[in-house]
Amino acid sequence: MTMTILVTGAAGFIGAHLCAALSARGHRVIGCDHLRHDDPLLALRRARVAALLAPSGVHLVDADLRDAHACEALVAHGQPRVVVHLAARPGVRDSITDPLGYVGPNLVAFANLLQSCSTQRVARLLFASSSSVYGARSEAPFNEDDRCDRPESFYAATKQANEAMAHAFSRTRGLSVSALRFFTVYGPWGRPDMAYFSFAQRICRAQPITLFAGGELWRDFTYIDDVVEAVCRLAERPGGPSWEVLNVGHSRPVQVRTFLATLEAALGRRAQILDAPIQPGDVPMTCADPARLHDAVGALPCTPLETGLQRFVAWLRVWQRSQPEVLPTATAQRVLA
Ligand code: NAD
Repeated sequence: MTMTILVTGAAGFIGAHLCAALSARGHRVIGCDHLRHDDPLLALRRARVAALLAPSGVHLVDADLRDAHACEALVAHGQPRVVVHLAARPGVRDSITDPLGYVGPNLVAFANLLQSCSTQRVARLLFASSSSVYGARSEAPFNEDDRCDRPESFYAATKQANEAMAHAFSRTRGLSVSALRFFTVYGPWGRPDMAYFSFAQRICRAQPITLFAGGELWRDFTYIDDVVEAVCRLAERPGGPSWEVLNVGHSRPVQVRTFLATLEAALGRRAQILDAPIQPGDVPMTCADPARLHDAVGALPCTPLETGLQRFVAWLRVWQRSQPEVLPTATAQRVLA
């Protein structure tokens, strides 16, 4: 069944890929993002829209979801059956130095969206939570029923709060909600603030990279196409429970040191490494238990890290040639979720 689907954060990494994929599956897709003129990543967001949304015929509405009226108008006008809410300020590191900068995009905008989905009788809301809600733990894999009340960063706290807010709307307003805990998503058109992207940039420029905790942190890297396939199937699923939490990850964590070696091989260059201790906000491991997701939508593709990084590097080479000025030179090197 084809339907109208609203995707927020549509000019972002996951959102742009998702809009293109949903459109290719025959859905009417409305994208929403807030393109701020002072955003250092504005050119990258615009390029994603030009490369992924425009050829798919996806219309982008520029709206700030912190504005309750703009949010209500967006949902009322589009009348989507399903909303996929990805808009947020991501990143662990910045949330430690600028926690208040996360309140508007991650909490106020989310409350507005819940209210609008409820009043406009949206059939299902899927929203981006994060593996960071699991906090610092080393027992793996992470199961959705595990304790999640000890966030290591303010970013993680906002995602945990989102889950609580959505659960309350599900219980009191009849809104059907799926909270999706994404695990370190990577791939073409990715985020320059994430480690794989900034590592690759610095290796290409023969600049040293800082490796925290001896590169012994474990991350469940998840390739973008696999994430998009999971979200498409969830959006298309008829029915579903009124409330659910689902891990979206591969359950194949690798150490960051191993990840770096794979990236070096894809780039054909060695990294210069500066060692540093584990940083506040960092967690030693992420590892999804994807059983519940597989129960919901069946077995999913699991792109090997080597393949995913080769595709990322192929894209990066083209991107660096065409838009070198877009790539920030001093982005954080280490945000992993
Ligand atoms: P992204 O930063 O590329 O995309 C987020 C988009 O939201 C941006 O384009 C931004 O402009 C938009 N946005 C922010 N505030 C807005 C507002 N007030 N109104 C409208 N749009 C607004 O991030 P991403 O990597 O694509 O992540 C998508 C979602 O998944 C986020 O919620 C993020 O926290 C979550 N997540 C991502 C990962 C990952 O590895 N990429 C992991 C866990 C969770």
